[in-house]
Amino acid sequence: MSLFDIRRRDCLARAGIFSHDGLSVRTPGIIDVPAVFPEFDRETGTNVPLSGDAEFVSRYHHPAGGGAVVVHPLGREKVTSGDLVVVANWHTVLSRPRDFVRYLTSLKGRLPPDTAWFAPASALPSDASLLVYAGFDLFDTRAVDLETARGSFCLPEGVFREDLTGTGVCGCEGCASGDLGRHNRFALTHELALAGRFIAGSRLRDLVEARCRSGSPQVAIVRLLDREEALLEPYTPVARSVPLLATTSEALRRVEVMRFGRRVVERSPPPVHDVAVLLPCSARKPYSASLSHRRFAKAVRGRAHELIVTSPLGLVPRELERVYPAAHYDVPVTGHWDREEIALVASVIGGYLAGHPYRRVIAHLDGGAREAARAAAGACGIPLEQTAEGHPSDPSALAALDAALEGERRHPIDMVRWVLAWQFGAAADTRGMKVRGRPPQERVERDGRILFTIDAGTGLLRPTFEGWDLIPEGYRVWIDAFTPKGDILAPGVTSADRGILEGDEVLVLGNGLSATGRAAMGCTEMLRSRHGVAVRVRRIKTE
Ligand SMILES: [Zn+2]
Repeated sequence: MSLFDIRRRDCLARAGIFSHDGLSVRTPGIIDVPAVFPEFDRETGTNVPLSGDAEFVSRYHHPAGGGAVVVHPLGREKVTSGDLVVVANWHTVLSRPRDFVRYLTSLKGRLPPDTAWFAPASALPSDASLLVYAGFDLFDTRAVDLETARGSFCLPEGVFREDLTGTGVCGCEGCASGDLGRHNRFALTHELALAGRFIAGSRLRDLVEARCRSGSPQVAIVRLLDREEALLEPYTPVARSVPLLATTSEALRRVEVMRFGRRVVERSPPPVHDVAVLLPCSARKPYSASLSHRRFAKAVRGRAHELIVTSPLGLVPRELERVYPAAHYDVPVTGHWDREEIALVASVIGGYLAGHPYRRVIAHLDGGAREAARAAAGACGIPLEQTAEGHPSDPSALAALDAALEGERRHPIDMVRWVLAWQFGAAADTRGMKVRGRPPQERVERDGRILFTIDAGTGLLRPTFEGWDLIPEGYRVWIDAFTPKGDILAPGVTSADRGILEGDEVLVLGNGLSATGRAAMGCTEMLRSRHGVAVRVRRIKTE
């Protein structure tokens, strides 16, 4: 009997414990498969190439099953939760990015999520974090041992075709004793442990973006995976409370970045203002805490809807400035925007303005942000007024902005209405609601009743039962007829609304009870897993 206890998730990557017959292995890590599954070595027909066609696969690929199942993208293996999934020959697609992504999408789409994935003979220190990122959990030392036989020295930064023990580039025990093989194994173990730490910190992507630089196929795999929305979107959490490092061009197409822009375009409610002002971002987050934005607020005085133009997110309405990743991204500021950045940011601005018409749109911008706004307005045929001749924070520019808004009507900022729309796609009547308290104890009240608390880490709303009354549909999880004592486990979930992501607030509905809580996994995993916490419950109410 095998069990894969997933403790932490980071998109497709997981950190946990895989156990079988009393043996347990920490993941991501190294497993001695013949020791754990002695029958595995006697299995035949386990070496069908990944590129094999359907006829070849049906003729030669007949895995025996029983705890460790060799799978093939075109196979029809019986795999159950807790099994060790063995993807043979995966090293052959590390240099073929399109095949890597195609086969991975096919396999991840078909097999239960709570299976442990083993890629034999594939992991080197330089590609281990990418393999972990792609959802592999267990590895062996065959690939590094082969490099040892070739006399190559392996580091996360790449494979060196010479023995570098004794040169001071590494201080491991293998290097100290001049043992190349020991060094190479150590380098792999160390890199897998490091990947585990990045998963625990919800920042594996940062490690992968750094490591993938050692080879162009690795960069291509990261980029192609980002375009494979059906694969990554269901596994990418709605929010994190850690920074999003946007220091590479890959950051522009990260799932979280694309999702933020898409929701701004598709879910934003009709604005109350009929004048919009496009403002530059600030290094300090949330923007309103920065000196420049305090000056903008003084000039605008509620007379226009404030929309912040920023790379890589595109457009952040003032009301959403605390929502992940708007308050969390860290981008190097040089004042220069490249064409891809301008095009992506312009597409978000254009999409938003096309669906949210204003009587006037004022661009209080300079540099790349102004170029992006011009491109967007040009594409939608919207005339753009400009109030910043020099730097947008210059007193003359601020005075021009103030003067341009002369006589326009003031409206307050309705953060709750916008966050409800972004987070739940809900159009709620927020009249009479008041935000009280200070972070991390902020709450939204109406007539003395608490409707939501605000998560200081992510900027998202946590509805109380009264708050859920304002969100008529979506984000529901249905459970079997039992009264949960604490968290809801995946096997108890009978149904879940489409689109629920890890980190989403959900309303659990059961026989005569309801519960508020936070999804610990996405709906795909909830419905297809037999193990693990699906919802971390906050409150239970019986009727
Ligand atoms: Zn070493």
